[in-house]
Amino acid sequence: MTWDALYASAFERVKARIRNVGGVLLAYNTNIDAIHYLESGDLEERIRKAGVDEVLKYSEELPERIKSVPQLLGSILWSVKRGKAAELFIESCPVRFYMKRWGWNELRMGGQVGIMANLLGGVYGVPVIAHVPQISRLQASLFKEGPIYVPKVVDGDVKLVHPKEFGGEEESCLHYIYEFPRGFKVLDFEAPRENRFIGAADDYNTTLFIRDEFRENFEEIASRGKLAIISGLQALTEENYSEPFETIRANLDVLGEKNIPAHLEFAFTPDETVRKAILDLLPKFWSVGLNEVELASVMEVMGEKELAEKLLANDPVDPLAVTEAMLKLAERTGVKRVHFHTYGYYLALTSYKGEFVRDALLFAALAAAAKAKLGDVPSIAEVVNAMDVPVNERAKPVEEALVREYGMAKGIAEVDGYQLAFIPTKIVARPKSTVGIGDTISSSAFVGEFALR
Ligand code: ADP
Repeated sequence: MTWDALYASAFERVKARIRNVGGVLLAYNTNIDAIHYLESGDLEERIRKAGVDEVLKYSEELPERIKSVPQLLGSILWSVKRGKAAELFIESCPVRFYMKRWGWNELRMGGQVGIMANLLGGVYGVPVIAHVPQISRLQASLFKEGPIYVPKVVDGDVKLVHPKEFGGEEESCLHYIYEFPRGFKVLDFEAPRENRFIGAADDYNTTLFIRDEFRENFEEIASRGKLAIISGLQALTEENYSEPFETIRANLDVLGEKNIPAHLEFAFTPDETVRKAILDLLPKFWSVGLNEVELASVMEVMGEKELAEKLLANDPVDPLAVTEAMLKLAERTGVKRVHFHTYGYYLALTSYKGEFVRDALLFAALAAAAKAKLGDVPSIAEVVNAMDVPVNERAKPVEEALVREYGMAKGIAEVDGYQLAFIPTKIVARPKSTVGIGDTISSSAFVGEFALR
């Protein structure tokens, strides 16, 4: 069978069964992405008003967090000058008010939980129970229709309601995304490439605030689920991670007792202490998903510096180095499934065997291509239209290396007692948006795999 035939057959089977997987618990991070396309005249005027010299100071070196308007504007300049992304926490309320009045062009669902809830519940029709740290009207309005629920405690009973029915007058956790195109000019600067500066006006997701409804009723909430996906640990720091980690550990123990497989969606975690703590928490997970940068960062804290470098040395990423790293991670933590994704191909290392692992990856790649093409996945029917995106030719040498090294056939091999599944992905040449593709891939593959069991 060709890859295209495998793609078509995998899609049909996952589509037919995905609604039957049962409830999926999603925790912990949901926010609002407020996208602001910068205009140079407007930005320049604001810089002059705030004081050019003061602003320029911060375009040289980013502050640790933002406490003033010159720091905000200077940090945006820092990104423009270098064409580099940066994200900082907005500490000051007056600066938050300034940003709110400056406004946005577009609002989008943000946070891994929010994005996955809309995909799984809103598009695939899989019931999801989401942790939403703050349910403002604006936040609620970004949820799609469908079986998406948040717990609401009414007279001591846990009820599941759609976020729009929660009736929350809570805060909006806004992540302002200041985007600029390549060649964007302001003062004497010109952006060498397109990118964005993010200002997080959000005290909840950044410290991994966990709602009382979840903390106090987790046993009951968990009993409504068959699977769980955990994310949002990435912004924690050495100073603030202990308390949320205690709750997460307790939640994972409940999931373990109830035999609910939990997937950790890894995201780049700059703080090394937190990254090590996540590694120590992994034995409580069933599955983990990561990209090459994240896998390399995990290898680093495992003391595998050379391997970490190998993972970032080649394009496409060397699949033998990836396999070695996945084996090390699985052996160290005991997770049953490691799902790796990179531009051009995915791999899954599992302690169990079966073609369904590969087929779930194929389904995920189709969803990713639809997302890249359209910016959002509007319906499961649109996913099949991504069939016309060609299978990535760059993955050929990757496949050949795996065939040579492990005798892989039809994307399946056995390595050190584990199964290794490989697929070449479909790559959209001119993607509309790539925000949240990683979340689309990991959640589709994890839930898709259970649909096929
Ligand atoms: P994010 O955190 O932005 O979701 P990740 O690195 O986790 O980023 O995920 C990005 C993944 O999206 C890549 O590993 C790649 O597999 C996929 N991807 C990126 N660009 C495209 C594209 N144009 N077409 C299809 N898939 C893409």
